[in-house]
Amino acid sequence: MYQSQMLIDGRDLPLEEGGDRRAVIYNPANQEAVAEVAVGSRQDARLALQAAERAFLLWSKTSSQKRGEILHEAAGRVRDSSERIARLLTLEQGKPLKYARTEVLSSADVLDYYAEEGKRNYGEWITGPRSRSIVLRQPIGVAALITPWNYPVDLLAWKVAPCLAAGCTFVAKPPSLAPLAATEFVRAVSQAGLPAGAANVVHGPGGEVGAELVESPISRKIAFTGETATGRSIMAAAAAHIKRVSLELGGQSPFIVCADADIKAAAASAAQRAFSNMGQICISVNRIYMADEVAEAFTAELVARAEGFKIGSGLDPEVDLGPMFSRAQRVKTREHVADALEKGAELLSGGREPEGEAYEKGYFFLPTVLDRADHKMKVMREETFGPVAPLMKFKSMEEAISLANDSPYGLAAYIFTSDLKTALLAAEGLEAGGIGVNVNNVVDLQAPFGGWKESGLGRELGRWGLEAYMETKHIRLGMG
Ligand code: NDP
Repeated sequence: MYQSQMLIDGRDLPLEEGGDRRAVIYNPANQEAVAEVAVGSRQDARLALQAAERAFLLWSKTSSQKRGEILHEAAGRVRDSSERIARLLTLEQGKPLKYARTEVLSSADVLDYYAEEGKRNYGEWITGPRSRSIVLRQPIGVAALITPWNYPVDLLAWKVAPCLAAGCTFVAKPPSLAPLAATEFVRAVSQAGLPAGAANVVHGPGGEVGAELVESPISRKIAFTGETATGRSIMAAAAAHIKRVSLELGGQSPFIVCADADIKAAAASAAQRAFSNMGQICISVNRIYMADEVAEAFTAELVARAEGFKIGSGLDPEVDLGPMFSRAQRVKTREHVADALEKGAELLSGGREPEGEAYEKGYFFLPTVLDRADHKMKVMREETFGPVAPLMKFKSMEEAISLANDSPYGLAAYIFTSDLKTALLAAEGLEAGGIGVNVNNVVDLQAPFGGWKESGLGRELGRWGLEAYMETKHIRLGMG
């Protein structure tokens, strides 16, 4: 069985040195054991933080050109290992191998991007009447990078790359139930020429290892992606030292289909973003609002798309959708569907596990379309994190925007229309960090990504992602 080691102070910690606590990682497609992992402790987290603190002295003084070279080398090493990392990702998380490959390769692209962006950390010069001011941006220090299981490599790359490009060092804590690919990603990065201790990985429970990383005075920056409830507790703990926090939290993204939309394109986009990765995406399409006039045509097209996906083990190259990540995720999805049906929704497709021997042992679930949804239902108010697309009609754009904004979340919102004015007015009125107009994705490596309201704080990607790892310093020169 594959063994996943922690990485502390430039050294792989063999399982036997990781104490007697072990965890087994299971494949969600068949519940077979795939790996054994050392479960770290608060003490391991402390050792890793101390190593990162020592390495910071060297790395923060390394030129941005040299850091860039090392990040490019890291990207190359991730690409060289991509097949192995992608396979581990499919085995632990369930997603089809073709998407696991894309995730790992795009993580290499993130490293390449920040290798260059790190060089653009320009200062400023301000002329005062009797003084001159220089403004510098300097690395914050040691960062704790805490990530979830749905995109364990990509979401870690969004943190690792700008963190290192800024001159910070880090301790990563991958999700306990899917730590394998993320750890291999950091291992490849750490071998690219970083000082020992600049890149560390500690496994273990969030409430213990994660909490130590957040509470320790050594970490100066917390970058977290995960549930809103966890983010809230991390923010509270970080307040003890007024730490810098970036929080990428839950979402409940609306998708508005206007009367003048290209219905086929809208339905294809909605289906892809509602069901891919089994709906376990923070910017998944969670609530679909359709203009009365096109509701029937859009619904028929969406149902046809939902029923067209091939479901199975992620290792099968023909498969579009793998299993859900865990029993708990599937239970929650079933509960949300049952709640909607009890409150008057109509089941148009799915709503249950697929039948057949191939599906018996995995956490499979059919893409589900629900009609006649309303805001009393959990599927419209809470994050289901499952492959469910609830439909609701609207009569005017004002009503659509108001329904879309009726949520504590504000990560992404989508609108399909062929009218530029409608698109721009809606984009201005929607309360979300990312607005997709005639697209079903708001992620772009060069643009800011993050949430409004309870979906988060701060931005990742682009130059905003780099700024999140830097402090501003003003140097004032007397000229009297
Ligand atoms: P969780 O919040 O449960 O866990 C995320 C990470 O935090 C895990 O590594 C977890 O460790 C750790 N953790 C848990 N408790 C603490 C704590 N008290 N202190 C420090 N760390 C802790 O999220 P999930 O893994 O369930 O991921 C799904 C969630 O992530 C969804 O809500 C989704 O919307 C959100 N997400 C947000 C994105 C965004 O960009 N806005 C993108 C992707 C996902 P352990 O695994 O040991 O519990």
